Amino acid sequence: MKPVWIFDLDNTLHNATPHIFPHINRSMTAYLQQHLGLDEQSASELRVHYWHRYGATLSGMMKHHGTDPEHFLWHTHQFPGLPQMVLREPHLRHALKNLPGRKLVFSNAPQRYARAVLKLLRVDDLFDDVFAIEQACYRPKPQMTGFMRLLRKHRLNPAQCVMVEDSAENLQAAKRLGMRTVWVDATPRSPAYVDVKIRSVRELPRALSRLIQSELKRERYGVKTG
Ligand SMILES: [Mg+2]
Repeated sequence: MKPVWIFDLDNTLHNATPHIFPHINRSMTAYLQQHLGLDEQSASELRVHYWHRYGATLSGMMKHHGTDPEHFLWHTHQFPGLPQMVLREPHLRHALKNLPGRKLVFSNAPQRYARAVLKLLRVDDLFDDVFAIEQACYRPKPQMTGFMRLLRKHRLNPAQCVMVEDSAENLQAAKRLGMRTVWVDATPRSPAYVDVKIRSVRELPRALSRLIQSELKRERYGVKTG
């Protein structure tokens, strides 16, 4: 059975840390300032607090202030200079194209932004679907709502899925569901719920061969993983 690859977007398929995340943080702080009547520092602190507590500033805004998610996402994801902000890894397209099996994107970002980034990365045509925060009923990963809706929509069995992510918490949720997991991370640590670790998506072909090896070992010796 060919795997179904489920890719996170930000800091998995591209590096959002230098330009995109600081821009989103500034936009969210400005939104909180404007709509909650806060000064810049209090708005920034509340944004970080909601992010830590709920995994997304949006969730805190919806829960405590009745914020309309569409309005929030529209105003906090305006990128007049997106082409200059997206950092494209060399060989990304090549690495993705050579992976056997269907590919999906599952992102906590809004649909319009995710599609624009994939287009700038020149890989938008390689994915069957972009499952964004709107499709997850505005409940971000690692919450189960999005995972379950994604599996249902594409009639997937978690055992056939490989989740590729930079967030360890999201991979832990994927593993709990029975998916195989690839962690995109540069640190030496490797938790038990990670099947394969790579530093960049350029190493995906290597990840695939390691997944196949561990699969064969499991079949041959009945070794339980995860
Ligand atoms: Mg990410």
